[in-house]
Parts: sequence; structure tokens; C-alpha cells
Amino acid sequence: MNANLYALFRSRFPNDLDDCWVETHDGYYFSWRDLERGTAKIANLFASLNLPAGSRIAAQVEKSPEALMVYLATVRAGFVYLPLNTAYRAEEMRYFIDNASPAVVVCSPENFGWVSQIAFRHGTKHLFTLDEPRNGRNSGSLLSRAAHHPDTFHTIHRTEDDLAAILYTSGTTGRSKGAMLSHGNLAANIRVLHEFWRWQPGDVLLHALPLFHIHGLFVAAHGALMNGSKMIFLPKFDTGAVIRHLPRCTVFMGVPTYYVRLLNDAAFDKDACDNIRLFVSGSAPLLTETFDDFAARTGHTILERYGMSETAMLTSNPYEGMRKAGTVGPALPGVSVRVVNKEGQSCAVDEIGDIQVRGPNVFSGYWQMPEKTAEEFTADGYFKTGDVGRFDSDGYLSIVGRSKDLIISGGYNVYPKEIESVIDEMPGVLESAVIGIPHPDFGEAVTAVVVSRDGATLSEAAIIESLKQKIANFKVPKRVHVVDELPRNTMGKVQKNVLRERFG
Ligand code: AMP
Repeated sequence: MNANLYALFRSRFPNDLDDCWVETHDGYYFSWRDLERGTAKIANLFASLNLPAGSRIAAQVEKSPEALMVYLATVRAGFVYLPLNTAYRAEEMRYFIDNASPAVVVCSPENFGWVSQIAFRHGTKHLFTLDEPRNGRNSGSLLSRAAHHPDTFHTIHRTEDDLAAILYTSGTTGRSKGAMLSHGNLAANIRVLHEFWRWQPGDVLLHALPLFHIHGLFVAAHGALMNGSKMIFLPKFDTGAVIRHLPRCTVFMGVPTYYVRLLNDAAFDKDACDNIRLFVSGSAPLLTETFDDFAARTGHTILERYGMSETAMLTSNPYEGMRKAGTVGPALPGVSVRVVNKEGQSCAVDEIGDIQVRGPNVFSGYWQMPEKTAEEFTADGYFKTGDVGRFDSDGYLSIVGRSKDLIISGGYNVYPKEIESVIDEMPGVLESAVIGIPHPDFGEAVTAVVVSRDGATLSEAAIIESLKQKIANFKVPKRVHVVDELPRNTMGKVQKNVLRERFG
């Protein structure tokens, strides 16, 4: 059997290929036939480049149906997709391109200048803008080149263990790591989610999440593909647009920030949600207050689930049965989730410990980091998630913290260490600590605490301005506090909990 993920999705297309696959926010329709032909053309283009087996195809492009086709065509042609956040700047892109050495890079026309310098310097052979070409130095836009290729393509045979994608997830110590996900990992997970969330005929997904992250790509878009369901695509989350489109949809997925913003809009009411069957939340903790307010306003209980780039989805509150606020539900079918103490023994009910997981959805390792991979797995094959939690007596998991010190702001992961190292390089800075402060909209707001060198005067505005030039906006601290010294414990470790209390 061909385990290529595209073949699985293809088997789920509706009978009438002229049905709508994606409707865009501005009223364009793409049919399932467009998807089949479009991915064939792009896959033929990739095949014509004579890329070595296992080549990575990296894409930093704005969300669009065509961008999703580039992903599906990559998988269909048997290559490995590497999605990159559109907010990444030169420094970040240099790292990913250097680390993953993609054979092909697809970027937006606006970024062609600087991306091309980085890509060609790091050995990328083929650089495309997704749409219109910019100048003679690129290979022409991907879509215009693909247009000359045949619109049929025999989906390449893949085994379950062959790689389909690499998702970069940063670590607190050192740089980002590429989580290698196979066709089998992604197929296993979406089969389970499809069943568990009772995807059904007639479902329409309102897709407001980004496509470069696991949530928007492997949970939301895969769910609709697995069900042969239409998606309505918003280029990004926008409260007004969501409220406008919800009445024609049955499924909505978001990060907690989306739900907070919807509740802050007086126009968001029960009527807007009348047609919705399922609201899903994940990627960051959903506050009990948001869960309760949402139920009071709309009559819907949000279904919260838990997962991560390395493992896809792990636990979910039930479709039928009790959805408990403040929990992420029991382990999904086929996924083994355990909470262990420092000695590696299973914790009792309500006892807090490290969350470890195993299952067909769990990745095989970090790209070209065998040692790091070995460190993150136990002897009996469980992946150490870095999250800390506890099970209640009903088997529902609650996540209480993160041993890896990650900040989640508006659903995006921010790793303090990365920002601290950029701040520490600034003139006049002695050292810094970056923390997450509870924030009503973002969940957590990135906040920096900085110590100046003797005699230097530091300005909050100047530090923020300088960071904006260097790192993606979502990582830039909302506030910078200048202090005389950082609080430390006897082992010399900065006490971030003290800082969180002081500046929270
Ligand atoms: P990512 O790889 O970007 O999906 O981030 C994964 C991390 O997000 C997990 O390790 C958790 O720390 C966090 N996360 C995901 N879903 C939830 C949730 N429902 N509640 C709390 N934290 C979550």
C-alpha cells in the first residue's frame, strides 16, 4: 500500500471534484479538482528539478490556497516540507536554511531580495517566489513555472516511516530543533482526530490559523482534508471576519487568544454560533474563565486538546461526555501518556510530574541531532515532552507548567533564551532575563528584565526598537524593565518566578 499522506487525502475527496475545497475571505473558490490538478503541476515541477531523494522544500509564504497546495504537492512528490513562520527575519531564516539545507526555497515576492542572498549562500539550488517573479535572478515564480507542467501526477510511493515534514521547535538551551514527522505519524494522528471529533458529512471548517504551524496545518487543514470538507480561509485571525463567516461553518479551531478576542467583541453572540458543531482550542492553556464565559455567551463548551510539534495531538477532551475546564482531557486512542516523578515512576492521581508520551504519532527524532534525540527519549521509548502535569481520578490531564521555560504568547512559542542572547549583545547591557507575564489577550506577554553595565543608560523604547529589527515581532517584549540586578538562587540560577511576581 502507498502510505503517502496525499494518497490518504485523495481517497477522501468528495465524489464531485467540482465541489468547493477552499473559499477565500475575498470570495474566490478553489475546487477539489483545482487541488488535484494544482498539486500535480507543482509536483511535476519539483520532479523536473532532479532533486535528490529526501530533499527538503522550505516555504516562507503568506497563507493562501496555493500555499497549501505547495505543501501537498511536496508530500505528493515524496519530498519533505519545511514550513517557516512568515514573521521570521534574516537571522532566523539563515539558521533554518543552514540547518536544514533545503534544495528548494519558496518565499513571498516581498522577501525575495534578502531570502535569495541567504538561500544561495547556503547552497539552495532553486529559489522561487510563490507568485509573480521579481527579477531575473530567481527561477521565476513557482506558480507560473508549474503552469507549464502536466496536470496529472502519479503520487510517489512512500512508506509510513518516510519523512513528510520537518517542524522547527526551539529549545531553551541552544537553537531550534527540527522535529522529523513521517507520513505514518501524520496519518495516524489525523485518522484518530477525524474519528474522535466526529467529523461528518456537510462539515465546513472556518480556517483562521496560520499554515506554518502544527495547529493550522496538521490539525485544522488535515482534518478538513481527511473529511473531504470545504474550508473557508481567512488570511489571519480577525474577529469581525470570524463572526461574519461562522454562520456558514460547523467547525472552528483556534488558540485561546482567538476565543478571548471573540468574547471581547459585543457582536459575538449565540446567533453567530448557531451552526457550529465544534469549537476546538489548543497550543496554549485556555483559562477556565474563558471556557466559562464562552459557554455563558454561546451555549458551547470549547473542546480543549493538547499536542506539540514533535508528537502531533496527544490528549483531547471528549466529543461526547464531560469537557472539563482547565484540563486537556484523556489520552487520545492509541496514544500512551504518562506522568512520572523524578525517579521515572508513574505519579499517583493528582500528583504532579513530567509528561511523557508514546504512540504512532510521535516523531522519530530531531533533524541531524541524534544525541539530542536520544536525550529526549526514555529507555522504554517515551518522549519527554518537557511539560509538567497531573491526571485527575477520571484520567483527565491538566498541564501545570513547562519544565522547558517556554512562553506562549498569542499561541506562538517564544523561547526566553533566544531573546536574552540578542539583548545581551546590545551595547550597555550586562545581562537580561525574559519572562512571560499573564496577559488578558495574548495569554502571556513577553517581558524583558535588563541589567545595565556600569554607567550605561538603557531605554526601553530603544531596546524594543532594536529587537524589532532582529527578531520576529511576536517575540519582541511588550515591556522592558531596567533593574540593578537579577534575583538569583544559591545555585546562581536567575529566579524567574521572583521576576514574574514582581512584574506580573
Ligand atoms: P507547539 O510545538 O508549538 O505546538 O507547542 C507545544 C507546546 O504548547 C506544548 O509542549 C505545551 O507546552 C503547549 N500546549 C499545547 N497545547 C496546550 C494546551 N491545551 N494547554 C496548555 N499548553 C499547551
